[in-house]
Amino acid sequence: MNRAAPAPARTVRCPTCGGPSRYAPDNPWRPFCSQRCKLNDLGDWANERFRVEAQDSDETPPAPPLAHPSH
Ligand SMILES: [Zn+2]
Repeated sequence: MNRAAPAPARTVRCPTCGGPSRYAPDNPWRPFCSQRCKLNDLGDWANERFRVEAQDSDETPPAPPLAHPSH
């Protein structure tokens, strides 16, 4: 009986570009296919967070309506 060869690398879909990505120890960017795709994903994340935080602290919120003129 022969021993089974080590499991072949699986190929998954890269979350960023949708292309094939090697899900193997020799792919440090897994599940992304490349460094670029991984950084791209992180960049989106950071941008999103920064935008939200900036919106919160940069813009002065409109004065809250204290009292509505009666009607
Ligand atoms: Zn990719």
